[in-house]
Amino acid sequence: MNEFELIERFFARPARHAALGIGDDCAFVAPEAGQLFAVSTDMLVEGRHFLPDADPENVGHKTLAVNLSDCAAVAAQPRYAFLACALPDADPAWLAPFARGFFALADRYGVELVGGDTTKGPRTLCVTIFGEVPPGGALLRSGAQAGDMIWISGEVGRARVGLALERGEPVDPVPAHLQHEALQAMHRPEPRVDLAIGLRGVATSGIDISDGLLGDLGHILERSAVGAEIFLPRIPASAWLHERALDPQTAAWGREFVLAGGDDYELCFTAPVARAEAVRAAGRAAGVAVTPIGRIRRDPGLLVLDADGAPLDIALIRSFDHFRGAGE
Ligand code: ADP
Ligand code: MG
Repeated sequence: MNEFELIERFFARPARHAALGIGDDCAFVAPEAGQLFAVSTDMLVEGRHFLPDADPENVGHKTLAVNLSDCAAVAAQPRYAFLACALPDADPAWLAPFARGFFALADRYGVELVGGDTTKGPRTLCVTIFGEVPPGGALLRSGAQAGDMIWISGEVGRARVGLALERGEPVDPVPAHLQHEALQAMHRPEPRVDLAIGLRGVATSGIDISDGLLGDLGHILERSAVGAEIFLPRIPASAWLHERALDPQTAAWGREFVLAGGDDYELCFTAPVARAEAVRAAGRAAGVAVTPIGRIRRDPGLLVLDADGAPLDIALIRSFDHFRGAGE
């Protein structure tokens, strides 16, 4: 199979909304009248973001999901995707399930693959996503206001538990039902697109939690020039993980999993207190749990409070950073 046969067999589909899709040197796309394109790129590298023996269908799902999550973070409706891939070989046994996972998610969100690039090399998958957002309807990191409530969708820490299971990290035995949930969260994250769109005009700022709650909320605080206090017991995570975060024997990693576990792709957003009911309604409409975890403060800095309201020492808890060396 040569490069063009590979594209034809696994990726080329007729254009639907695009004026010109796969097959020429460029794709032609336009946003609906009155909308802006929100454009973002995210890359997955074998050995870094997924293991060489990872299920290719999951890799196909996650490659697109992390990009849809970027659209969700700004409340854009995803529309068009480009897929650049380096592949070690043209192996249909890998490509067919990869394409199945990719297109199953694309079809659910009405996303059209309109172009890309294919080259031989260490397996790397890079999607560029074009979403649509009305000017003024976007959720930016910079919009949080003192007094706003801080919310998160779904549950955090699950993908981090999944990673611990995959790596065989010496954490306490994970209950069977959580094992399944954790691996599912890690391999097949669900982008919170519908929730985010329901939060247009309600939330004041937003971000997706890809690197961990503290770090990603930290980006909102920095860009909005505000501080925050959040309550550890209110953060939605499994009861099992909360118990680990409380027990002095396991608190070090338990807290880190809740506060800094990455890869969950939940939304963290802020909204005025007066819009709390509208936030809950958006959660119900999207079928996603939304939980308030704290408040934005005028004073800079991020306080994490325990059940007694005492601030925890979070100096050693840090979010994921690709270029941070071990022991640094
Ligand atoms: P060029 O030589 O101009 O880079 P290519 O021969 O790489 O073009 O690609 C031919 C067509 O196939 C283009 O429309 C390109 O966007 C599309 N394409 C290439 N690789 C992929 C891919 N992995 N997924 C989707 N479309 C692709
Ligand atoms: Mg090319």
